[in-house]
Amino acid sequence: MSPPFSSCCTTLCLAKPKKCAPLHLFSPEPQRVRMPHAYPFLTPEQKKELSDIAHRIVAPGKGILAADESTGSVAKRFQSINAENTEENRRLYRQLLFTADESVDSCIGGVIFFHETLYQKSDDGKLFPELIKDRGMVVGIKVDKGVVPLAGTNGETTTQGLDGLYERCAQYKKDGADFAKWRCVLKITPTTPSRLAIIENANVLARYASICQMHGIVPIVEPEILPDGDHDLKRCQYVTEKVLAAVYKALSDHHVYLEGTLLKPNMVTAGHSCQHKYSAQEIAMATVTALRRTVPPAVPGITFLSGGQSEEEATINLNAMNQCPLHRPWALTFSYGRALQASALKAWGGKKENGKACQEQYVKRALSNSQASIGKYVSSGDHGAAAGDSLFVANHAY
Ligand code: 13P
Repeated sequence: MSPPFSSCCTTLCLAKPKKCAPLHLFSPEPQRVRMPHAYPFLTPEQKKELSDIAHRIVAPGKGILAADESTGSVAKRFQSINAENTEENRRLYRQLLFTADESVDSCIGGVIFFHETLYQKSDDGKLFPELIKDRGMVVGIKVDKGVVPLAGTNGETTTQGLDGLYERCAQYKKDGADFAKWRCVLKITPTTPSRLAIIENANVLARYASICQMHGIVPIVEPEILPDGDHDLKRCQYVTEKVLAAVYKALSDHHVYLEGTLLKPNMVTAGHSCQHKYSAQEIAMATVTALRRTVPPAVPGITFLSGGQSEEEATINLNAMNQCPLHRPWALTFSYGRALQASALKAWGGKKENGKACQEQYVKRALSNSQASIGKYVSSGDHGAAAGDSLFVANHAY
């Protein structure tokens, strides 16, 4: 049988019809079926760099410490322990996390910084990014500028921060950042998420991701569906599938190199005020099913946010994902903020003399989540200062 394309063709025929008659077999108007070509924007070396960074972050047993709370978010956390929200206190607290016992080195593949933290130093004058790199961890930076209202919707938002992002990424790369985070937020109500919110947030994530990759920065793509509401597990699964499908369509449209990205989604859970309580196995099955339907195997890792789950819940659910009997082509691990820090923050209480206790709590959670990321977590019952506390914050901002 002769091939459907004449010899002048590569993938789709761009020659005039008379030179390339077989294309008429597909369409009476051959010019209309032309596909745009990809004009590769990354060299093989750039692709390798991105893919290597992504794989280092999610190497077996490793996840991410999200320490990128904005100054406003830190204010709320510090208020809960009666600590003053000064630049020095933020530096002291983060220094405790970054200088914790070396046993965390095998658990934490990357740390996400807030802009201010990237330029802060430890007591002995070492820049925090250097400190983190010397421990074998990858430095990340939050680059979005928070959510803003999406006009004409029922309280939905998009995320701002694209202006100047190209230049900021170039600078952040020079200053030691090898990956970035951008958070978009979607809400489940009877009327949301709207089609507009899904499309707009997918597009802004893809635009951000392509800018990062041009600078050798691995983008963490975070379309967070908030846990607020009384919806059941099935509805969260349905919405998660629709949102992720739109995100991967937009990433494809923007020519994003998937091997050099990470996804940071919510776990599929019922709404915070749903009366029915689902088991970790049910949550794992719903989550892995949604991910298998939407996230290409080219993506090296999926690093969940904790989204207001208690520390212990977030660990147990992650462990259940990694024990789920469905095939999982990506690493499934953690990128927790609250679920890695709640007990540590409580133990610290803003007091210098509690530094060691703070670090011990952080190490405990890091080790537990590391075990969960390979499906080997066994709960000891000896939980930390806040391990069982709900960390839910209504309409959570970061
Ligand atoms: P939580 O784990 O506290 O949900 O936050 C992770 C994060 O980085 C959200 O952007």
